[in-house]
Amino acid sequence: MRAVRLVQVGKPLEEADIPIPEIGSSDVLIRIAAAGICHSDAHYRAGISKIDCLPLTLGHEVAGRVEEVGGDVTHLSAGDRVCVHYLVSCGRCEFCVRGLEQFCRSGQMIGKHRDGGYAEFIKVPGANAFPLPNEIPFEVGAMMMCSSATALHALNKARFKAGESIAILGFGGLGFSALQLARVFGCGEVYMVEINPAKLALAASMGAVAIDARSADPVDQIKEATGGKGVDVALELIGSAKTMRQAVLCLGPLGRAALVGLTAESMSVRPYTELISKEAEIVGVSDHLATELPVLIEFVRSGKLRFPQETLRFVNLDAVQINAALDALHHSTDHVRTVIRVASGV
Ligand SMILES: [Zn+2]
Ligand SMILES: [Zn+2]
Repeated sequence: MRAVRLVQVGKPLEEADIPIPEIGSSDVLIRIAAAGICHSDAHYRAGISKIDCLPLTLGHEVAGRVEEVGGDVTHLSAGDRVCVHYLVSCGRCEFCVRGLEQFCRSGQMIGKHRDGGYAEFIKVPGANAFPLPNEIPFEVGAMMMCSSATALHALNKARFKAGESIAILGFGGLGFSALQLARVFGCGEVYMVEINPAKLALAASMGAVAIDARSADPVDQIKEATGGKGVDVALELIGSAKTMRQAVLCLGPLGRAALVGLTAESMSVRPYTELISKEAEIVGVSDHLATELPVLIEFVRSGKLRFPQETLRFVNLDAVQINAALDALHHSTDHVRTVIRVASGV
């Protein structure tokens, strides 16, 4: 089969002809129809995030049709439309049995620790393949399994409830889903903190209060807009110490700051005035859970979470096109997502 693989860190991905994977009794073989190109794939190619074993087929946002089913897989049949949960876990360790598979002792991420979706076929455990309703195009089914799933997990981790106000710091792919999902949760006012004028305008058109971080301190602006109170929840989606601190400072009493963006920087907090006196919380958010995915899929199926055509662009399973898309991700963090349409997938 054709695959586009990372052979050497720091170099363009290369096209390869490799065997179709052989499945075990608990696996399914999926004929890939679509695979999302994610910012983290650009990090793997550049060596910013380490990949231990090369060559490797990248791609952790995958949807397609079941081609072959292992003997122990009972919930799927050949021909079923599916999307893929990217964390492969053992199902037996102390975390897996509690439904916390992101801490699995032997967990593997598709497209990082094992071959991913920039290919014609992928082998995954049956437990990682979720039925994809006919109403959801494969392209959306692939892409929603990363940023949208993590945005939903962030709201869940922040224990976001109907009527609560929320500040979202950063309007990229995660923010695009987070803003819509906050609505689905029945949110109060949404404050979108950004510096990009086009994104601020789009956020406003989607019903958020646009907070232009270039014009004045976003914390002051949020405090003023909330009558001095602050917000109930803040989502930090950028990954900088500065915006993480802003997420904490814009909280009101009992507020929760959910940190999703990645940074190696330290952040400072004044425990008494900024956390203790408000009983505020800082919550770390990592990936998402299999148990959250059916809910997410239903939100997309029913049109509550939407990805208009202009927010997606498409390439073929072609190394030149994929490398160009990864190059573009280095220079931009807009909410437009690139998805590989695999010609043989249906
Ligand atoms: Zn991703
Ligand atoms: Zn486990």
